[in-house]
Amino acid sequence: MNIVPGGGTLGILGSGQLGRMLAIAAARLGIDAHIYAPDPDSPAARVASRFTCAAYDDRTALEQFAKSVDAVTTEFENVPAETCTILKEYVPVRPDDNALEIAQDRVAEKIFLNKQGIGTAPWRAVDDTGMLDRAINALGTPAILKTRRFGYDGKGQVRITTPHDAADAIRQMNGAPAILEGFVPFEREISVIAARGIDGTRACYDPGENSHKDGILRTTKVPADINTQTRNEALAVAEKIIDALDYTGVMGVEMFVEPDGTLLVNEIAPRVHNTGHWTLEGCAISQFEQHVRAVCGWPLGDTHRHSNAVMTNLIGDEADDWQALTKQSQAVHLYGKGASRPGRKMGHLTRLSPKTQ
Ligand code: AMP
Repeated sequence: MNIVPGGGTLGILGSGQLGRMLAIAAARLGIDAHIYAPDPDSPAARVASRFTCAAYDDRTALEQFAKSVDAVTTEFENVPAETCTILKEYVPVRPDDNALEIAQDRVAEKIFLNKQGIGTAPWRAVDDTGMLDRAINALGTPAILKTRRFGYDGKGQVRITTPHDAADAIRQMNGAPAILEGFVPFEREISVIAARGIDGTRACYDPGENSHKDGILRTTKVPADINTQTRNEALAVAEKIIDALDYTGVMGVEMFVEPDGTLLVNEIAPRVHNTGHWTLEGCAISQFEQHVRAVCGWPLGDTHRHSNAVMTNLIGDEADDWQALTKQSQAVHLYGKGASRPGRKMGHLTRLSPKTQ
């Protein structure tokens, strides 16, 4: 089943902090990481054993990379389909690109989820003004217009409060295909970090409860303030998704919890996820180690949580005063990114406390 041997090499597409934390987890298991990314300034490459700096459509570089590794994984979902096709000629790519393709397009994602009987915000595909007017008629306001592709951290999204906002909202899409979502009056946002091994075994972490500021994740706390039934339903939804995709690896599943406890899936991320960083300190086996295990074909680890945890992102200049941060009684993670810029994720903190539930 193409298992990466102990002492083998895992290829990672992408250069950011998620790749960095994956490479560190791989190293702990005695597996070398080989990073492939077009950006020469790579936080991931600085902790990896090899780095190929090349474009995602550079066939020669991709072939050489594929021949140097035992399996390939990704730290972001927007890997071009063609990149995976080339790599798959030589080496297993996990998760499979069908999961990446679904997660790259909010419409494909919603169609997939609804087909599984999984609830989402009501939605309509929108390519032009006429389609937007019809979508607003069908869904009402408030609603949110989002680009179908390449949206992250709340970017590429416009709130539509009244039908009069439509013209301006469609202008802000700059001609990109979009999706209109009915606004969900959620009580809270949670996410499940789910894992699936190559033999189909599954393991989910406790749901985390997420808060955002300016569209960017601010904190994740565990346990989430939800009852046991909602918790179990959230895990069941995540498991249904990874099974339906015949998925290998870790996936982040973001959900809205409505006041009556109904769960709606907002987004799936076929990779390790910011809302799972708490697992580095909160569990014996983090989401990063879990992902490395899964994509290497190794047995999954225990997802048991031994403490309560609050993870806080360090955004922009919040990480500049690292001396003060390291004096606090919480774990400090700095991603080794050069200059801080507003909105850039520079690191995170995790504070543990005794487990209450
Ligand atoms: P997204 O990029 O889709 O993850 O959206 C970023 C954030 O915007 C979410 O975490 C929610 O806080 C909010 N949001 C997105 N879609 C909706 C929706 N349909 N209804 C209400 N809030 C939403």
